[in-house]
Amino acid sequence: MQTLQRRQTHQVQIDHVTVGSDAPVVVQSMTNTDTADAEATALQVKELSDAGSEIVRITVNSPEAAAKVSEIRQRLNDMGCNTPLVGDFHFNGERLLQEFPECAKSLSKYRINPGNVGKGAKGDEKFAYMIRTAAEYDKAVRIGVNWGSLDQSLAKRMMDANLALAQPKAPEEVMKEALIVSALESAQKAVDLGLPEDKIILSCKVSSVQDLIQVYRDLGSRCHYPLHLGLTEAGMGSKGIVASTAALSVLLQEGIGDTIRISLTPEPGESRTQEVVVAQEILQTMGLRSFTPLVTACPGCGRTTSTVFQELARDIQSYLRSQMAVWRLQYPGVESLNVAVMGCVVNGPGESKLADIGISLPGTGETPVAPVYVDGERKVTLKGDNMAAEFLAIVQEYVEANYGEGGPKRRQGRVIPIRNI
Ligand code: SF4
Repeated sequence: MQTLQRRQTHQVQIDHVTVGSDAPVVVQSMTNTDTADAEATALQVKELSDAGSEIVRITVNSPEAAAKVSEIRQRLNDMGCNTPLVGDFHFNGERLLQEFPECAKSLSKYRINPGNVGKGAKGDEKFAYMIRTAAEYDKAVRIGVNWGSLDQSLAKRMMDANLALAQPKAPEEVMKEALIVSALESAQKAVDLGLPEDKIILSCKVSSVQDLIQVYRDLGSRCHYPLHLGLTEAGMGSKGIVASTAALSVLLQEGIGDTIRISLTPEPGESRTQEVVVAQEILQTMGLRSFTPLVTACPGCGRTTSTVFQELARDIQSYLRSQMAVWRLQYPGVESLNVAVMGCVVNGPGESKLADIGISLPGTGETPVAPVYVDGERKVTLKGDNMAAEFLAIVQEYVEANYGEGGPKRRQGRVIPIRNI
């Protein structure tokens, strides 16, 4: 059993969700609906939440949006969804919080970008108003610095100081340092304004994998605030998934990161929930958390010339994921179930025996039968056109017997024990 060391941080409570130190790394997401459309936004938050997002951020960018936040919260409560909402504020946050106190109260956390609050004394006043509002309503704050909206006066100050050095650093190194300084100085200002340290989470998002790793390693070593991780503007499809996974995996393996978000650009018509699925899969494949039963499937090769194998692997995966909203409550521990769907006799029986339940489908030229293994033993052999439905019935039966009331595997998990440093 592997042991990962996590950074020791303050723990921040966001309603019922605990962030930091030995609390599980939290999955976050963000809506892309118009917040002024309360119905559409509440439905998307619910959809993200059902997919496994434990905190959802919504943009609060206008009076029309701010006016609908309490209605969104109420609609979610009415749907039985208690997922905390985070308000994403830029440019006019202090005005919206002042004019819409119900919005300020309904949110569980405010995200403040120090680069987009305002300049000089006016900016300081606006920042102070938002922090005091958070303190008054007992809300957490994420100070979220972003490469694309770095505080320009801070960047200029640091660039000028660098140029005065006998051996100036490369400009990009100064900019990375400026991101960290912006987050740390803003956090200190917030504390000085009366916000407790255990209400503060930090992030410093950039769009390059290597820069993100460098910035978060440095930031993590210089403070005890929980860190929200994410590669900003990760992009679409496999590029966004691979880049986010590469960056976050390195940091998570080093114990850095207390909440994560995968900033994927959805393909046209694609569900917003893809970013939640990817976040969960990163955490689960690293052995940090369990969310959904894993399907082990071989890639297929010249021995699997029909589509039966791919279809079954896909159907099993989507069936298991679709059941989780109910199974999570009914069958505690079922998220650690491991199912194998294999394409032929070469590795099929071996992998199937290692899984809780496995099916070894017939490859090209093999006898058209599919042995099913349960807990390492050959249980039954399926054949004919109804193999998929029959296999799903065996999976359902196994889940009920093992994770139902009194089942031997109920509440067992494969979460790696966490030790603080
Ligand atoms: S298990 Fe069989 S079908 Fe799957 S990749 Fe290996 S040889 Fe190919």
